[in-house]
Amino acid sequence: MSTHGTLWHPQTHMPSAPDQRLVLASGDGAWVTTQDGRRLLDLPAGLWHANIGHGRDRMAQAAAQQMRTLETYHLFGAHANLPALALADRLSEMVPVQDAAIFFTSGGSDSIETACKLARRFWQVVGRGTKKTILSRDGGYHGLHAYGTSIAGLQFNRDGYGTDSLVPETARIPRDDLAATERVIESLGPENIAAVVVEPVIGTGGVFPPSDGYLAGLRDLTRRYDILLIADEVITGFGRTGESFGSDRWGLEPDLMTLAKGITSGYLPLGAVAISSQITEPFFEGSDAPWFRHGLTYSGHATACAVASVNLDIIEEERLVSRVSELEPVLERAVKALNGSPHVREVRSVGLLAGVQLVPEVDGNEVVRALRDHGVLTRLITDNTLHISPPFVVTAAEVETAIASIGECLDTLDGGPR
Ligand code: PLP
Repeated sequence: MSTHGTLWHPQTHMPSAPDQRLVLASGDGAWVTTQDGRRLLDLPAGLWHANIGHGRDRMAQAAAQQMRTLETYHLFGAHANLPALALADRLSEMVPVQDAAIFFTSGGSDSIETACKLARRFWQVVGRGTKKTILSRDGGYHGLHAYGTSIAGLQFNRDGYGTDSLVPETARIPRDDLAATERVIESLGPENIAAVVVEPVIGTGGVFPPSDGYLAGLRDLTRRYDILLIADEVITGFGRTGESFGSDRWGLEPDLMTLAKGITSGYLPLGAVAISSQITEPFFEGSDAPWFRHGLTYSGHATACAVASVNLDIIEEERLVSRVSELEPVLERAVKALNGSPHVREVRSVGLLAGVQLVPEVDGNEVVRALRDHGVLTRLITDNTLHISPPFVVTAAEVETAIASIGECLDTLDGGPR
């Protein structure tokens, strides 16, 4: 056995992994505890997923009860299970997508794969098969399946796969620049463009809220040029921005919406795509309607769907989306106070999401490690940015203390920026 052990970590430089591994053993609320007993405030909520917080017995009960009844039954060929049917009804009511049908997946990358394939398939079915290209934004992150890799707006996620031929018909548009987007559409020809994929708030790319009017302008452009709009709400879905969906907050009515993470708050893997009736109609109407030849063994996994329903109950009963709105100004004030540090390049925040971008001269990983000694867990995302998206159950005082700890760690850095 090599010194690295048997576990290959995703998105990790493996030679450094043995020295850097941090094993989390348990969690409660906004806190996690390491294998060696250190309690840390989970500032990133894992990978933006632990919205209702860790260690909820009610979620474990829901899973156990469904597993005892029927762990799952697939949805292929018109089979179904009760939790998937109930969750589809509930999501369809919730999402700002016209008469939405719900296609379940196992996570965010699956949802993107499904939405992009369906966008292409839709145009084929309605006789406009040249519309194949998927546009995505510079800085965007849409998972790491073949589609997610091909439409990645973070170049390091695209490199190294011969990506231009992975899914060849993709193109990037600049972030928040409608005039440049229109030029890309005109130069590729709208008759060749199937869809544009957009995160309402760019997450992994560094936490960039949309500029004023951008999302509404993008919706107008896509309507004018007959291009489908896919809102990737894998992070922003289920309350993260202080509304149920980012699309609610910015008045976007997408044609498709991709969901995952907060749908179960991570208690089990699940994803979904909400699809408007304009797209479902040719597949749903008429005896000669075509099939969407796509699906996963675990599309609509019964236990995952049962757990998702209880997760939504908890969000409603505990008014966690309003809680995010209440915490938004607390987080904003706290991160803005870091602006004075010479080690900070920029801070950005919206809802219960923030990025603290450090100047390039600072070793962000050193800051992440130092923060653990203050009882704070975070990680680096793109461009030396500290990732902040705590569970919705975090308190205002915990937010203030944790962000103040970032300031204290930065103050103790040697030398300052050069
Ligand atoms: N889309 C967005 C916006 C994401 O942030 C992520 C994951 O971070 C994904 C898609 C991919 O989700 P998953 O990692 O569940 O496949």
